[in-house]
Amino acid sequence: MSEEMYEIYEKCGISKEVYEFGEMILEGLKDRFEKFDKTAEYNQLKVLNAMQKCKVSESCFMPSSGYGYNDLGRDTLEKVYAVVFGTEDALVRPQITCGTHALSIALSSQLRPGDEMLSISGKPYDTLEEVIGIRDSIGSLKEYKISYSQVDLLEDGSFDYNKIKESIKENTRLVAIQRSKGYQTRPTLSVESIKDAIQFVKNIRSDIIVMVDNCYGEFVEKREPSDYGADMVVGSLIKNPGGGLAPIGGYICGTHKCIEKAAYRLTSPGLGKEVGATLDINRTLFQGLFLAPTVTCSALKGATFAASIYERLGFEVVPNGSEERHDIIQAVTLKSPEAVKAFCNGIQSAAPVDSYLTAEPWDMPGYDSDVIMAAGAFISGSSIELSADAPMKPPYAVYFQGGLTWHHAKVGILKSLQALVDEKIVDIYI
Ligand SMILES: *Cc1c(COP(=O)(O)O)cnc(C)c1O
Repeated sequence: MSEEMYEIYEKCGISKEVYEFGEMILEGLKDRFEKFDKTAEYNQLKVLNAMQKCKVSESCFMPSSGYGYNDLGRDTLEKVYAVVFGTEDALVRPQITCGTHALSIALSSQLRPGDEMLSISGKPYDTLEEVIGIRDSIGSLKEYKISYSQVDLLEDGSFDYNKIKESIKENTRLVAIQRSKGYQTRPTLSVESIKDAIQFVKNIRSDIIVMVDNCYGEFVEKREPSDYGADMVVGSLIKNPGGGLAPIGGYICGTHKCIEKAAYRLTSPGLGKEVGATLDINRTLFQGLFLAPTVTCSALKGATFAASIYERLGFEVVPNGSEERHDIIQAVTLKSPEAVKAFCNGIQSAAPVDSYLTAEPWDMPGYDSDVIMAAGAFISGSSIELSADAPMKPPYAVYFQGGLTWHHAKVGILKSLQALVDEKIVDIYI
């Protein structure tokens, strides 16, 4: 062990045993990390090629105001997103407030009264329950007479093709697939498996719109679900594709037809994509996208490191330390509220911002139980930055994600472990 290196970890509050435990775990992860680097290399060139092809220029960085007519930066950024995601068109806007909003626009723009939406990856992300009307809410799809049905994934996390076939009815207008597990302990879907599901649905009825909730999945693999026929992929810019720099925003990439409808819903019928000033954030959105492949790679390394550590200590982790990853989220079932709080506060104490604060559970809008969130982020609520959150309910699973740099993710995970060791919740044996 390098004494000089340990010295700086000691300053960060890491004990020698925790540091050495981490180093031992890392020894076994070299091949995994090399694979992540290869994916990042591929995706870096994919983004670079798109920017060159779309002729990104310095004039794309000019601010716009008011109606935002002829905003070159905005229009070029949307072209770049379309090329990166392999779609005909894209809607990438600071007026899209978050991932939930992007998904809400995507759904409500395509569905009309009498239509049915079918989720084939089980229960959707918590905040979508109110969008759909699974939990009653003002303005839900249900209020507009749009019905919802759901096919759960099979025990092993794969699609239930028999049930999907049975559930597609005459009024099924849109099929939704959620790539990432979100706040669940099921496996995340690979792009390969999503590809098969899209083909299956399209073979039954080619006019059904397939929408993929792509949150946390961007740049984790070399291909995106939109490379395989998804009509829309949807996500948040304060997750992977914003590269940690985007201060706000969401995206929808998809077919011309879908994007036109989505734009009419976001702004207004008749206005669509033509309006929407970007103020002064275009440069940041381009730059964030440019960094996104390497930032996502850092987050993947952090997630794998965390998985390997907590698996070794006997906790249930999804995914485990050796299986292939399809998103940046790491679930660790800690089994008690005390452990969840200690873990989250370990992460909090490693943050560059607000490291001196203590995370407490609170009744966050859109969620059905109290949630604890650890985040000391430059961008408020950004979960591509090192963060951890957990609904305060059994099985007391914590969801860990992000890390703008791998080295920051590493120290954050060591701090979480240190907190558990200090609270005498875990013992380390090397
Ligand atoms: C984060 C997330 C959302 C919602 O995004 P917000 O930006 O938090 O509104 C939706 N689906 C999945 C799978 C997510 O991870």
